[in-house]
Amino acid sequence: MTPTSQSYDLAVVGAGICGLAHALAAARRGKRVLVVDRDAQANGASIRNFGFITVTGQQGGECWRRAKRSVEVWLEIADAAKIPIIQRGLLTIARRPEARAVIEAFLQTNMGAGCRLVEPRELKDYGSGLRADEFAGALYSPHEARVESREAIPQLAAWLGERFQVTFLRETAVHAASPPKLETSRGPIEAEAIIVCPGDDFATLHADRLAQYGLTRCKLHMLRLRPQRFDERLPPVMSDLGMIRYLGYAELPAAKTLRARLEAEQREHIDAGVHLIAVRSADGTLVVGDSHHYAATPDPFAPVAVDDLILDEYSHVFAGAPPQVVERWNGTYASAPDRLMLVDAPCEGLRIVLITSGTGASTSFAIAEEVIAELFD
Ligand SMILES: Cc1cc2nc3c(=O)[nH]c(=O)nc-3n(C[C@H](O)[C@H](O)[C@H](O)COP(=O)(O)OP(=O)(O)OC[C@H]3O[C@@H](n4cnc5c(N)ncnc54)[C@H](O)[C@@H]3O)c2cc1C
Repeated sequence: MTPTSQSYDLAVVGAGICGLAHALAAARRGKRVLVVDRDAQANGASIRNFGFITVTGQQGGECWRRAKRSVEVWLEIADAAKIPIIQRGLLTIARRPEARAVIEAFLQTNMGAGCRLVEPRELKDYGSGLRADEFAGALYSPHEARVESREAIPQLAAWLGERFQVTFLRETAVHAASPPKLETSRGPIEAEAIIVCPGDDFATLHADRLAQYGLTRCKLHMLRLRPQRFDERLPPVMSDLGMIRYLGYAELPAAKTLRARLEAEQREHIDAGVHLIAVRSADGTLVVGDSHHYAATPDPFAPVAVDDLILDEYSHVFAGAPPQVVERWNGTYASAPDRLMLVDAPCEGLRIVLITSGTGASTSFAIAEEVIAELFD
């Protein structure tokens, strides 16, 4: 039988992390699952990101809880799916006293459990190569995990096929999706339930439903750097600018004072949505970013000036000569004015799931477990 002539319990549109997470949650319940994607291999936000499964810094409440659960799932499947966990934890550097005040306030919340304030003199315990003498302190969180997305996403798909017999139909565009039928560029497919995880394509499937959410897209600049030396003990690193973007910090009253100082001192960075995330790869290079520019259709251009702002923040956190840039790329993700994700239910057996923020690697596994439970229980 060909994939199109079989019928499935669940068809998932989109083989990014959101679609794969739904395929996993359904397959773990013994469902026969088909995943359809128009591309030959993963090419969307899910392979362009940091592969940084971030807990600390996520918005308090549902997002933080989902990130906690999602990191558990990544760790549960990593060995079996042969997905290396390259780094654990997070070091959020406070370059300024106002940023240290945000860390101190964060530690008073329930999200601070397991995290700690690191004094500048103690930073060497986490690795060398930071401008530790210039910092006001740091927050260490043990919760995070880092995977190499461009390898982890294909590996996850391959494992879903091998372990759970999930069927993948690639280079296949879905034109219509209403259970029990998908209309695809390879013909119709039958499925009892359908989950549409289209990333930042709001125009092809159920555009009428998605119109109500005021969606737009966000374009991000990313760099790969090759530092001359990098201490492998260092966890993923962020800095002050991240504390006014990541809602788990930014929504604390203490962040207001930090924001005011950053607006006075780093206006250009803020206008370009620049903050620092630096994560390590197995070959010793670093994935470093990023920036945020919003548009219905972001332009495809990558002005060097934006990369320079990212590198400027990098050079205030890491000591030594500026590292060589060995790769540059852009990514885009869906964005909504008032929510980090959405689940839309146009009819019985059909769900549209969009991650409308830069949190998909960190939350998709938990979201998918919730959607699949609601759909099949
Ligand atoms: C540069 C960058 C950095 C990021 N960093 C992080 C991070 O550190 N941590 C984190 O948690 N999140 C991060 N994110 C966000 C995260 O990557 C996204 O939230 C997540 O990847 C979205 O996954 P997705 O599956 O919805 O979308 P995608 O990965 O874009 O996948 C959507 C898929 O749907 C397919 N598709 C769409 N419509 C159709 C159709 N009609 N027919 C067939 N196929 C279709 C597309 O071909 C595509 O493969 C980052 C994003 C970017 C761009």
